[in-house]
Amino acid sequence: MPEKVIVIGSGPAGLTAALYAARANLKPLVIEGTAPYGQLMLTTDVENYPGFPDGILGPELMESFRKQAERFGSRFLTADTTRVDFSRTPFVVEVGDERHEADSVIVSTGATARMLDIPGERELLGRGVSTCATCDGFFFRGRELVVVGGGDSAVEEAIFLTKFATKVTIIHRRDSLRASKIMQDRAHANEKITFLWDTVVEEVGGGDGAVTGLKVRNVKTDEVSDFRTDGLFIAIGHDPNTQLFKGQLDLDDNGYIIVGHPKTETSVSGVFACGDVVDHIYRQAITAAGTGCAAAIDAEKYLEALPH
Ligand code: NAP
Repeated sequence: MPEKVIVIGSGPAGLTAALYAARANLKPLVIEGTAPYGQLMLTTDVENYPGFPDGILGPELMESFRKQAERFGSRFLTADTTRVDFSRTPFVVEVGDERHEADSVIVSTGATARMLDIPGERELLGRGVSTCATCDGFFFRGRELVVVGGGDSAVEEAIFLTKFATKVTIIHRRDSLRASKIMQDRAHANEKITFLWDTVVEEVGGGDGAVTGLKVRNVKTDEVSDFRTDGLFIAIGHDPNTQLFKGQLDLDDNGYIIVGHPKTETSVSGVFACGDVVDHIYRQAITAAGTGCAAAIDAEKYLEALPH
């Protein structure tokens, strides 16, 4: 018998979809991935998830999401989905050699941090180059660091890193931040944070497996100079995790899955998508959870209408 619902992905969207599907007695199978629970695992305090007036740690919040989904009968497979076939029903979802079939699928694979694609970056990833301040900040106690980007992520990471670093420089390619006013104010008020405007990083330099400095270029004067730093944190946005779905679902120019807002149906009837994999605007845990709920309700309605 095919599964009634397979949920691919386990961030706030996927786990909320699982919770709602489980409470609708659909016994969802969640293929949660080998690095489960999404981007909140890479964050510390979540201050804007309603219901937690004092804030909550990202991983703690996700653990609660999972527990709640499990309580009503969600089942979890800790593995990465390797292939899908949505051209036939029941739909096929493969995990290595394991083949699963389902009457409906909810895609909630989220998005992944963008890289600069400059020399030295990949080689020194995990050895001074990082996309996750929460994961790696601890290793830079007493050091000087750089964060690249001008959005909320860059500012949030920079503020977090001041817990460890003696100095954090935000390098941004323009002369004004995109980050929200409150985050900007916090960064400006933090004595350890300085800004290098109109500047791009062109190369990461290292020795003995550690970052020693950057080659940076002022985009207005074209002047290239060396910038000494012990670490580079990249916070320049995200790309949707949709590699698996190319040729299977309609994607927009940026690779996000196209859904029929406010519904979550994709270009394939019976396949629904929610969370950051469809959302390049809001990208909040609460909006992801909201669309996860919608996807489960849409899937339930779709299944009810199928001939038995
Ligand atoms: P974002 O808002 O898209 O900002 C990306 C930043 O990186 C921009 O400043 C952009 O420059 C810069 N950038 C992009 N590509 C670059 C490149 N190749 N080289 C150099 N710089 C580059 O991404 P985000 O900061 O990750 O935020 C995403 C969403 O999550 C936003 O809606 C944000 O509000 C939200 N968020 C909220 C919080 C919070 O509320 N606590 C925390 C994190 C994120 P330009 O400005 O020139 O485009």
